[in-house]
Amino acid sequence: MPRAPKAPSAALASPSAPSGPSTKAVTIEAIAQDIATAIIEKRLPPGTWLREEALGRVYGVSRTKVRAALLTLSKDKLVEMIPDKGAFVNKPSVQEAREVFGLRRILESEVVRLFAAKARPRDYQRLTQHIRFERSALRPHATTGTVRETLLGDFHVALAEATGNHTLAELVRELVARSSLIAMLYHSANDSHCSSGEHADFLRLCRSGQTEAAVACMTEHLMRIEASLQFVPDGPDRQLDLINALLA
Ligand SMILES: [Zn+2]
Repeated sequence: MPRAPKAPSAALASPSAPSGPSTKAVTIEAIAQDIATAIIEKRLPPGTWLREEALGRVYGVSRTKVRAALLTLSKDKLVEMIPDKGAFVNKPSVQEAREVFGLRRILESEVVRLFAAKARPRDYQRLTQHIRFERSALRPHATTGTVRETLLGDFHVALAEATGNHTLAELVRELVARSSLIAMLYHSANDSHCSSGEHADFLRLCRSGQTEAAVACMTEHLMRIEASLQFVPDGPDRQLDLINALLA
């Protein structure tokens, strides 16, 4: 997902004057990106009702354009479209999150053992290079939160792919995608759920032949991510003031 363009900020600066000249350039993509940023930064928490009319006023565009932007976000699973009710910031359940992370611990322990048994120098080179990318992406303002989360999750997918077990890699890829979304929605703002430093520690243990220590390192890494999730309790406060949330 590209970085948030400047156009929506211009629209946000004058929500009471939707027909002003600054609003003409607001595209569907720019609206989608602006809302995505607000979701990732927790200004729009999971479960928030994204009312089309209010969003139309914020961006100075028609409800049709807002709906198209919300549809884009629903494809990325950041937004859930509920027939006859509207669009809401996605809210995976606590149980789903626990299940996803529990499964990842089981599968990725096996990934580590398989990887340690058959990894070649080029596999280590590839993963070391990936950690370098992670570090450059983690520099302040280097990329969006979404890109950072994807890159950090990709380390786990690359590791699973290196085992040569395609079915295992496919399952890990799906679970990583689901847990990245969960982490983005429930982690504290501006904090990546994976740690690049822990990836490097893990790889060092594998390389030095300490397989069981590497398994423990990976398990602890996944447990730490799960423990850091901050679930939003169900409550009556999901009807946020969208204009204030998006202007924040
Ligand atoms: Zn990780």
